[in-house]
Amino acid sequence: MQASAPAFDLARIRADFPLLARSVHGKPLVYFDNANTSQKPHQVIEAVDRHYREHNANVARAVHQLGEEATSAYEGARDALARFINAPSRNEVVLTSGTTQSINLVAYSYALPRLKPGDAILTTVMEHHANIVPWQLVAARSGATVKAAPINERGELIVEKFIELLTPEVKLACMAHVSNVLGTVNPVREIAKECRKRGIPLLVDGSQAVPHRPVDVQALGCDFYAVTGHKMLAPTGTGLLWAKKEHLDAMPPFFGGGEMIREVKFSGTTFAEAPHKFEAGTPNIAGFAGVAAAIDYYQSIGFDAILAHERELLDYASARLREIPGLRIFGEAVDKEPVISFLLDGAQATDLATLLDLEGVAVRSGHHCAHPLMQFYGVPATLRASLAFYNTHEEVDAFVAALLKVRKLLM
Ligand code: PLP
Repeated sequence: MQASAPAFDLARIRADFPLLARSVHGKPLVYFDNANTSQKPHQVIEAVDRHYREHNANVARAVHQLGEEATSAYEGARDALARFINAPSRNEVVLTSGTTQSINLVAYSYALPRLKPGDAILTTVMEHHANIVPWQLVAARSGATVKAAPINERGELIVEKFIELLTPEVKLACMAHVSNVLGTVNPVREIAKECRKRGIPLLVDGSQAVPHRPVDVQALGCDFYAVTGHKMLAPTGTGLLWAKKEHLDAMPPFFGGGEMIREVKFSGTTFAEAPHKFEAGTPNIAGFAGVAAAIDYYQSIGFDAILAHERELLDYASARLREIPGLRIFGEAVDKEPVISFLLDGAQATDLATLLDLEGVAVRSGHHCAHPLMQFYGVPATLRASLAFYNTHEEVDAFVAALLKVRKLLM
């Protein structure tokens, strides 16, 4: 018998997030900065708390009971993450502090040893700096270059151009699954197919995809997939790099230290197998206990329900914003996640965000760690309202009302 999907009970879901009940500057909080970091349900907070109260010990070192419990929490999170992204093996999941560390690991351990003068790394104009700067750093060391594929005015990748740029000098291609500024969902499968035809590995920055949609790295067909935990209900300082076994086996360790060795001798040290050879030092054990709880939480709601609610909320918020004269939305991709970047004529993004904060509305203003994208649109900054499944239509109304109110103050 097929289990029926749990009902999407928004009031019950919101009650799971203690922070959503607070007020800011005397106004009920409207938290629309989810692409920056998500709020955490009490199940995640309690998993972290329980770890420190009941199971705290270091991992993979002690044979005592607590050591085993801590190791099993940490390794259990690896199992849960492997299933979450449908990795073929738990050994292909390297636990990291987040996407930034995951991408730097690939940059220094995979790319740098392979790059030579004349080679190139291909990325896109819509990337977060975490998917640009590490490539620039290793390019500078190796004499390679970084190329960026263009986007159109709607904020969609120009796929033919990306494919055209997959020339023989390109040793690695990189792209966001979902843009953190525009919400654009990139056609990863199609791009991965083209990369495979040319023997070019593809790295996908999945930071903004995993909180919104089920991810299947095998179906996507990429080589590397980076995830950050704190945007998907989990604690800060958690994340993963998934990579195909053949790549992990061929990559030397990046950090050296405890946990990642087989035997240390001054005549030559041997290393543990992947993924442990990339996990030097004491990890964020309590954080990963929280990651497992976050995954359980997503599963208790189900991505079908999350997608349906977020889609409806995005359409509603976009329509409400479009009613405002002089408001320009950046990013009108056909396939997009609930992220809306915008500007209002005659008002600075930061002034608006500061005044919105006084109304209890948390949105981000600035360049969103995406300078090249700002340069493409010819603006220094935007405001970004990024929604999550626990947001409501009433919050959208409160946000729009606050926006209209603060706009008057600036005119
Ligand atoms: N990539 C994207 C698309 C992001 O949105 C972010 C965070 O804003 C990152 C990478 C960096 O993630 P972290 O700072 O958690 O490593």
